[in-house]
Amino acid sequence: MDLGLQGKKALVCGASAGLGYACAQALVQEGVHVVIVARTEGPLKDAADRLRAIGPGRVDSVAADVTTDTGRARIFALHSDFDIVVTNAGGPPPGDFRQWGRETWHQAIDANMLAPIELIKATVDGMMARGWGRIVNITSSAVKAPVDGLGLSTGARSGLTGFVSGLARSTVARGVTINNLLPGTFDTARLAGNFNAQAQREGKSVEQVREARLAKHPAHRFGHPDELGRTCAFLCSTHAGYINGQNVLLDGGSFAGVF
Ligand code: NAP
Repeated sequence: MDLGLQGKKALVCGASAGLGYACAQALVQEGVHVVIVARTEGPLKDAADRLRAIGPGRVDSVAADVTTDTGRARIFALHSDFDIVVTNAGGPPPGDFRQWGRETWHQAIDANMLAPIELIKATVDGMMARGWGRIVNITSSAVKAPVDGLGLSTGARSGLTGFVSGLARSTVARGVTINNLLPGTFDTARLAGNFNAQAQREGKSVEQVREARLAKHPAHRFGHPDELGRTCAFLCSTHAGYINGQNVLLDGGSFAGVF
């Protein structure tokens, strides 16, 4: 299927690895010109080289922290007229809410609520003026099915989800859709880090933790980042103009409810 994205310009955040990289890859394969962002220069440049080798879309990279004003200014110094924006950053650490103070909450809210809102603020009016745009926020299945211990992630991302739901109703008549992708358990470096931490906490091996999680999963496997990347590309496509304000869950059926 031709997604109709040839020559569009996309900003993909948190894109040197994992889910953000997979989104950038799927867009580059559709002929989109992507600007990828992450904080660490080396892996970012490597990721850009790998994406260029895939083509056909053009690839630029900006080393920046999307949670800071200066980081975002560096991105928009390169381009401001993006057709597609994929917001993404690292997730906050798990823990016990009794240990979290104001600063810890602020860091989570900065990364997983305010940074996406600032990125949307900088781009959505231009998209509406040009009559076309796609915004996709990578959030988490924990927004739909909260997990004790992931309160920082759920709290901050739920704020973003509510905000986006309201905004999306005011942009779609001008050709701009805003949707969220809710990953369940995807095989990325972050997941490996979570398993390591859990293994240490529980005095188990990483393999035991991984196997126990797989055994409980209805699909008996974790998601492949490409599955999320391709879904992102479809949501960005010209065919998806009537999908708006949605929370698209990609969890292999882990969520046990009907809706
Ligand atoms: P990952 O493999 O750790 O990749 C994160 C990417 O984001 C890296 O490129 C990282 O590079 C970049 N990044 C992190 N903080 C950034 C910042 N402040 N500014 C710019 N770039 C930043 O993570 P992932 O598994 O792809 O997860 C992506 C998001 O989805 C996270 O928020 C995560 O919590 C959420 N999520 C993931 C899963 C899963 O199963 N993987 C499930 C639910 C939710 P630098 O560190 O160099 O900046």
